[in-house]
Order: sequence, then C-alpha cells, then structure tokens
Amino acid sequence: MAKTDEKSGCLQTLKFTDEFYMGLAMYLASLAANIGEVPVGAVVVHRTKGVVGTGINRREILKNALYHAEIEAIDSSCKTLGGWRLFECDLYVTLEPCPMCAGAIINSRIRRVIFGAYDVKGGACSSVMSMFDMPFNHKPVLSPYILGDKCSAQLSEFFKALRKTKKRRRRYIPPTE
Ligand SMILES: [Zn+2]
Repeated sequence: MAKTDEKSGCLQTLKFTDEFYMGLAMYLASLAANIGEVPVGAVVVHRTKGVVGTGINRREILKNALYHAEIEAIDSSCKTLGGWRLFECDLYVTLEPCPMCAGAIINSRIRRVIFGAYDVKGGACSSVMSMFDMPFNHKPVLSPYILGDKCSAQLSEFFKALRKTKKRRRRYIPPTE
C-alpha cells in the first residue's frame, strides 16, 4: 500500500501487486458480509486499464444460485469493455471458483485467475477438480492461495459469527448491543 517517503514527504507509488488486488477483493467480500452474505469478493483487472469490473456474492439477497462474485465481476467487466472477450484481463477472487464460475472464466477468455482460500468442497480449480487442466479451448493461468490465510480467516470469522447468532436465537438470549 502507499507509504510516505520520509525525506520528500511525498506518497510513494502504489504497487499494483497480486496482493494489492486481492486486498481489494477482500474489501468487497467484507461488503458482502455486511449484508449477511458469505464474504466472497472478485475484481477484474485489465492489462492497461486497471480495474474494469467488481462483484460480490449476492445469493441470499437476490435468492438466486447464479449470483456469485465472479459472475457479477465478469458481467460488469463485459459492460465496461463493451465485449465478452476478456483475454487481456485477470480475475482476483477471495475463494476458489466453483464449476459454474470456472466455466464463465473459460468462456470469457480471462487470462489469469488469482484466488485466495481453497474451497475443499466446491472448488473447481484444484480442490474437487482442476477445470483449467482439462482440454477446453482456453486455459487461464492459475495463481492459487494469494493472501490465502487472510481470505480463509475472513470466511471462518463470518461462519463463526453466524453460528453464534443462530445459537443465541435458539436460546432466546437477546443481543448485548
Ligand atoms: Zn462460483
């Protein structure tokens, strides 16, 4: 992130690393958690144009299994760029993509996929299956587990809080705040 140079007092240039964009995806995931959704966030970054699309998980609010963060990010990127071919774009997502999203990534020709936490029960990029190793007409480059510990912690904290709320409701204990 930006640091101030001690001598000049000027801001040093931001370093647009994988960790930087994953941090952005984590921020989006926190917005999903704020509206009661499982915290998953996604960012699409164009080679020269920077961020062209973002998405958060909205399955509960929209009551629809299709509204994963990656789908929303791909949809908004296609709208921004005015086309479906995202071959100059990389996708950052806090959780390993599922088969539906991995399919959308292949279909939109995304160049590289960078994900945070592994999804051992639903991941289609190494956990349950490796869709990008199959003989499809497009093979995105994969960078797994970038800020993986932090993304995993974000998810487990959400589920921990959810379990607490459910327990409280079952025992009829009113919230403290
Ligand atoms: Zn998905």
